[in-house]
Amino acid sequence: MCATVGVPQALLYYKYYPLWSTFLEGLGAEVVVSGATTKKMINTGTSLGENELCLPVKVFFGHLVDLKDKADALFVPRVVSVEKRAYTCPKFLGLPDLARSVDGSLPEILDPVFNSRLSRRKYYEAILDFGTTFTRNKLRIIRAWGAGLAAQKTYEGRLETGLTPMEAMAGEAAAPSGGSLRIGIAGHPYNIYDPYTSLNLIKKLHQWDVDVVTTEMLPAKVLHKEAGRLPKRLFWSYEQEVVGSVFHWLNSKSVDGIIYVLSFACGPDSLVQTLLESEARRKGGMPLMSLVVDEHSGEAGMITRVEAFVDMLRWRRQ
Ligand code: SF4
Repeated sequence: MCATVGVPQALLYYKYYPLWSTFLEGLGAEVVVSGATTKKMINTGTSLGENELCLPVKVFFGHLVDLKDKADALFVPRVVSVEKRAYTCPKFLGLPDLARSVDGSLPEILDPVFNSRLSRRKYYEAILDFGTTFTRNKLRIIRAWGAGLAAQKTYEGRLETGLTPMEAMAGEAAAPSGGSLRIGIAGHPYNIYDPYTSLNLIKKLHQWDVDVVTTEMLPAKVLHKEAGRLPKRLFWSYEQEVVGSVFHWLNSKSVDGIIYVLSFACGPDSLVQTLLESEARRKGGMPLMSLVVDEHSGEAGMITRVEAFVDMLRWRRQ
């Protein structure tokens, strides 16, 4: 049995940490999270990963190594599908295999399978199967999973009040709005909320008197409804959410402009970028800026671009 389980503060951590940590603690594990992303972690991940991997996966590798001496096992779920008729990005399907290939000296990799395309019975069998790594008590596993789902629901409700994942997890209250501009930020949570890889984008916008709304702050049913306007459904659930948020802002005109944060070398993101830019043009030209992040992103260059975008939005408003 694993006493201490390490959870990398990267990739789907921003989406599911309350579910995962509550579940693991309910099973009797002590959960330890890797530290905040640093330049050293990115360098480590970059040296361990193939060149053509996207930055978020390289960052994830850096977090795995950070946990190496802090945990008995590492939690790297195989998130195949989170809804019927859609998949997650192929990197998430193979993440435990990628993790095992990173460094042979890492602790054991725990890789529960989450696959909503399976029947309900098979889905829960996979969870029970994983739970037996910690306990033979099936009732305890079911209770732990139920507690995890409840924690996740509370967390998502807090995000919808306008909190970022870190604020929601820390139990903070929503910052008062009332900025002179409002910008929608779309993209994967690991690109938007990781302070290092996003170069503190949200914090900087707040300092410039800009209110920020993100994909996670919109209710799931709004995202689904808006993404449903696409003539052809996207294969990837998380990209559907991004598209849903941008379509919502374009249709409701509830923001002054949109920043789409995407990763270099991300196949799904490059497809979605084209789609969003053409939709923004078609809808009458709400300003949309695509911001590509990679391991070479420089803070000065990014700040200049975002500052120019914000200035342009202010000028438009006047
Ligand atoms: S969606 Fe893109 S950025 Fe995210 S893990 Fe997949 S390839 Fe990387």
